[in-house]
Amino acid sequence: MAALLDGRKVASIIKDCLKKETALFKEKGLGVPTLVSLCVGEDCGSTLYAKAQAQAALEMGIDYRLIGFEKGISKDSLIAEIKKINNDPSVHGVIIQTPLPLGLKLRDVISFCSPLKDAEGMHPENLGRLVLENDFVVPCTAQACIELLKSYKVKLYGRDVVIVGHSEIIGKPLSLLALKNLATSTVCHIATSQAKKLRDHVKRAEVLIVAVGKPHLIKGAWIKKGAVVVDVGINRLKGKIVGDVEFKTAEKRASLITPVPGGVGPLTVVLLMKNTLELFKRAKGLS
Ligand code: NAD
Repeated sequence: MAALLDGRKVASIIKDCLKKETALFKEKGLGVPTLVSLCVGEDCGSTLYAKAQAQAALEMGIDYRLIGFEKGISKDSLIAEIKKINNDPSVHGVIIQTPLPLGLKLRDVISFCSPLKDAEGMHPENLGRLVLENDFVVPCTAQACIELLKSYKVKLYGRDVVIVGHSEIIGKPLSLLALKNLATSTVCHIATSQAKKLRDHVKRAEVLIVAVGKPHLIKGAWIKKGAVVVDVGINRLKGKIVGDVEFKTAEKRASLITPVPGGVGPLTVVLLMKNTLELFKRAKGLS
């Protein structure tokens, strides 16, 4: 039976470190790291993500400002708001909440955010830095998967890491992070499934990371004996939150597996704060 990759536990350790750092900045009179969250659509403050971010920021001594916009805001107006924030020295990090309403795409607006304020690591320059391995802010969920594995001393070097999902925000940056750790990484996606090859790729994974958004897509019987399984998926099924992996059968074959919830999710929000702190330190010439 697999042991759990406990994201809450790892998140709490990182949280404590960040808390100490922000307290030190305050003590030295360097100011308060500030994260602005831009949210398009109604009732932004009540979304699960915004609530979790506000709470995490509060706990870590980070100033969190949520700015809401009408659902119908034009791309140009949103870009104008982003540019205003670029010029505001009191703001160190920006996150644009997704999903955006139809007609607005993160990739079309994020490039107008200063790469030095891009708390999500989604600016083309920051993604490019990841390719060149001189990154300083990395997309939070992808980073969360690697942090979780590192915390449990899971080696990536030379191992078969199979990633299912190739989104810009998770799968693609994750494949680069796996390569940075010299894993042999394979990225699967919808076409892999359509070509009926998903099961074979999953079966040889020593480390499997799944970020799709389809409940129980990955069958427990496909998991290689002793594999490490990271399930990023968050799906609502019969009133419960479940991942993309069939947990009950997978835990019988894996050596380590993330619970859903309680795996990658709690770390993602903490790493958003870590990115904000990194941007703050850069703005102050501290790193
Ligand atoms: P996305 O829709 O942008 O990408 C989905 C990916 O899955 C694509 O690469 C697509 O090709 C692939 N895919 C779809 N159907 C497939 C199939 N049948 N077989 C193989 N691949 C298939 O999604 P995303 O934004 O990357 O999010 C993925 C999941 O991660 C969602 O459940 C989301 O809620 C969750 N998520 C979790 C966190 C966290 O912190 N835990 C953060 C963000 C997103």
